[in-house]
Amino acid sequence: MNVIIIGSGYVGLTTGSALAYIGHNVTLIDKDDDKIKCLNSGNVPIRERGLKELLNEARATIRFTSDWDDFDQQADVVIIAVGTPSKENGDADLTHVEEVAAIIGQRLSKGAYPVIVNKSTVPVGTARRVGSIIEQTLRRRGIFQNVHVASNPEFLREGEALFDTFYPDRIVIGVESQAAGDVLRRLYQPLIAQDFIPPQGLPRPERFAEPTFFSTDQASAELIKYAANAFLAMKISFINEFANLAEKVGADIAEVAKGMGLDKRIGPRYLQAGIGWGGSCFGKDTRAILHTGRQYDCEMRLVQATIDSNERQREQVVRKLKEHMKALRGRTIGILGLSFKPNTDDLRDSPAIAIIRHLNELGAHVKAYDPMTMRKCQDAHPELFVEYCETAEDLFENCHAVVLATELEEFRHLPYDKLGKKMKRRFLLDGRNVLDESALTQAGFIYRGIGRCYESWEEESSSQAAQGL
Ligand code: NAD
Repeated sequence: MNVIIIGSGYVGLTTGSALAYIGHNVTLIDKDDDKIKCLNSGNVPIRERGLKELLNEARATIRFTSDWDDFDQQADVVIIAVGTPSKENGDADLTHVEEVAAIIGQRLSKGAYPVIVNKSTVPVGTARRVGSIIEQTLRRRGIFQNVHVASNPEFLREGEALFDTFYPDRIVIGVESQAAGDVLRRLYQPLIAQDFIPPQGLPRPERFAEPTFFSTDQASAELIKYAANAFLAMKISFINEFANLAEKVGADIAEVAKGMGLDKRIGPRYLQAGIGWGGSCFGKDTRAILHTGRQYDCEMRLVQATIDSNERQREQVVRKLKEHMKALRGRTIGILGLSFKPNTDDLRDSPAIAIIRHLNELGAHVKAYDPMTMRKCQDAHPELFVEYCETAEDLFENCHAVVLATELEEFRHLPYDKLGKKMKRRFLLDGRNVLDESALTQAGFIYRGIGRCYESWEEESSSQAAQGL
């Protein structure tokens, strides 16, 4: 099939490369010239595992352009995958989506009937709004025809975006006509049937069940995306609240989560306690659905509590540092990891950034090391006072404490023994509960995780002092 994708960010690029790989002809349009130049020169503007290799494999059937003259009138499907950031009041900003809808209306020729697919995360009713913008624009050009707009929410996780696209749990579409549904079923057929040869480096998981192709109405499809994200965010915040309680009552949250997750009704995923969720979606989508709730007089108390709880969780790190070191002014704190999760360079709403901001306010000297995102962080956050370090060794030098903020694989295997010797005080706050506590303790660190119970800190500090650490 001929497919146009508008927006070549995390979603557009991943979807486009996967669709090209399974045999469709894909044209990716983005207004960002630099991105298109980067893609046309064989590079990839975002860090996503396997994406560069996949694009190379699919290069014959995918092209990148910033020129709307390349809008293919033979397209069977036009996918909108532009950003929908938060407005000041929490509502989703639909400027880009509506702008694209108007351009589609200007570009479509008489008699061309592609299915317009909205993949951006948007409030209920947006598919209808997109349809009416396109039809109005067409009418102004003297073209009187209806368009089919489908909602097709995206559930990929950054860092695992290609895996999730090739091996999804489900594909959800919201359509108002059987014809549009049939086109989308054809588009995704190789993924539904799982009859494609897996790309290199992305093997099909053993016993992988074919994904459900779930066809529903537009409004329900639009709401599914918000409900899923709010639920996942709530699950993380839920375990984080129990982590805070576990610390007080002498339980270990990892054990609690394990015991809970063995219940098939609950499941083990999204039950890792830590310093809170972040990223481009959970924060903006929970705020957007709260806004929708307000607009329709429907209080969403659980969603509100989830947001509040997450903000408090980010403060846990600073609270623990204060508890351990008292005044933070003049202290040097190292931050390991800047992105909101591993294997992505996305810094949007990352807990690490919020923690650095707070430490800056308290007058601490902040150092940071993240092999994937440092340059991007410098560009995106010039307001932060951070000494960026080229290596983990540089980071540990002279620190009074180090906070692990992102659970990068590399951080699990650092030579902590050696690194500890470079610190002024060996205090390690593991914000993701991924490090080996006993190895670190043996290396002379005071180790703290989230939701774990320890002896009195004073006792340990004085024992460290006695050892001259
Ligand atoms: P992004 O910011 O990475 O990419 C959006 C792209 O759209 C940019 O490259 C931008 O230049 C382009 N764009 C904006 N206006 C345009 C226009 N008028 N014409 C052409 N191009 C235009 O965004 P993203 O992370 O890919 O997210 C896209 C949508 O998908 C959002 O609604 C988001 O909520 C949703 N989503 C994102 C994820 C994720 O993990 N990133 C997951 C699921 C859903």
